[in-house]
Amino acid sequence: MITRSITEIKKALAKKEISAAELTKACLDHIEKTEPALGAFINVYPEQALARAKELDEKGYDESMPLWGIPVSVKDALATKTMKTTAGSKILENFTPPYTAFAVEQLEKAGAVILGKNNMDEFAMGSTCENSAFKAGSNPWNTDCVAGGSSGGSAISVASCQSFASLGTDTGGSIRQPASLCGCVGMKPTYGRVSRYGLLAYASSLDQIGPFTRTVEDNALMLSVISGHDERDSTSSPREKEDFTKLFQNPKMDLKGVVIGLPKEFFESKAMDAEVAKLCAQTIEEAKKLGAEIKEVSMPHLVYSIASYYIIASAEASSNLARYDGIRYGHRTNQPKDLDELYTMSRTEGFGEEVQRRILLGTYVLSAGYYDAYYKKAAQVRRLIREDYEKALKECTFLLAPVSPITAWKKGSVTDPLQMYQMDIFTLSLNLSGLPGLSIPVGMANNMPVGMQLIGSAFDEASLLCAGHSLTTHLGTNNQYKF
Ligand code: GLN
Repeated sequence: MITRSITEIKKALAKKEISAAELTKACLDHIEKTEPALGAFINVYPEQALARAKELDEKGYDESMPLWGIPVSVKDALATKTMKTTAGSKILENFTPPYTAFAVEQLEKAGAVILGKNNMDEFAMGSTCENSAFKAGSNPWNTDCVAGGSSGGSAISVASCQSFASLGTDTGGSIRQPASLCGCVGMKPTYGRVSRYGLLAYASSLDQIGPFTRTVEDNALMLSVISGHDERDSTSSPREKEDFTKLFQNPKMDLKGVVIGLPKEFFESKAMDAEVAKLCAQTIEEAKKLGAEIKEVSMPHLVYSIASYYIIASAEASSNLARYDGIRYGHRTNQPKDLDELYTMSRTEGFGEEVQRRILLGTYVLSAGYYDAYYKKAAQVRRLIREDYEKALKECTFLLAPVSPITAWKKGSVTDPLQMYQMDIFTLSLNLSGLPGLSIPVGMANNMPVGMQLIGSAFDEASLLCAGHSLTTHLGTNNQYKF
């Protein structure tokens, strides 16, 4: 039962073939069995989850709740009132927030059962889930390999059927890349589509919450549930909530009339592994067979995305993380000799190496003497990247691009931070532009999953979901899992 898609298991719940409590128990048992090898969770809450499922069972199946009885998990960067929220950091090891994030509230209202909080790179800084202060996550397809990051735990739990769906966050690829490396579906919605209220901020102008699922249809359902205006986030879009599941009542199974743009700078990248490139080419052929028109587009400023992103993200992080001062939240050092030492030692002991590196870098690029040379320049380049995207999307329905230049690599094999930043070469620019991106599994290379991303115009997640469904169905990658 736990290998089914949400859409399928919902039918079984409605017909009472299985109760919410039985389904939750099945997921919890699977978590207990697989967790030592996978490391997908920072904290699991079996009692809370079972109590919630039993409560739902007692009230009876409710058709108006689109996630009634569905066991899901949530990245530990999203605040939960009844569960610890650590952001993968020692500084918040024992922190339980006084409120719940908007997106998680929406899951609860929709009837979901929350199993626990997924593992992640500390404060969402990383590309492997190895920067978690607690444990590294492992790829379910080969536990010697990384899961991707920073929302690695979310991808692991969905790909290995520990949970039916998970929420992650994507600041520079953290949903799309782990989804790609673990072989599941991940959506980074348009900036503003999902409220960031209750998200422990990394880089506020880039962060966006989105769902991990095993099928594109399930992703549409999750996105419909978590999106919508929220006045507590001033960047939340005032648009009406959309029901993306309607697209699947009569799904369009071909790509006739669709124009797909291929950003030449991505496909020409020297970083691309030959096997991944081959699979991408096959996917493009499949899209052609389904009737799509393929067009090459050029986006000349993409080469600056790594430089621009790491300046902007670090700058915002240095400001956002200033709140962890040892007084208001989390870890406080023992017996400091004065106030300065209390701040310094609490932060030194609480933050990991990568977080400290970004705070230093961010503070530097924002400092009076360097602001114009670094931060301001990066912000100008960001605008040019966005314009490249807008220009390309004027001619195309959406763009199709690789997600990761290589398949999941061995844990511990990339230790140089700059080399690690290079791994994000295909994902960062999307966040700089604010546009939506859907990562779908397209097959296997080197015995590991490979994903590709569909990139659309602002608020056009619908086109991505339609095309993603058609492609994954034809490629046979819809509802992939590794048990
Ligand atoms: N790997 C990128 C970083 O470390 C992106 C992470 C993310 O999207 N949160 O910043």
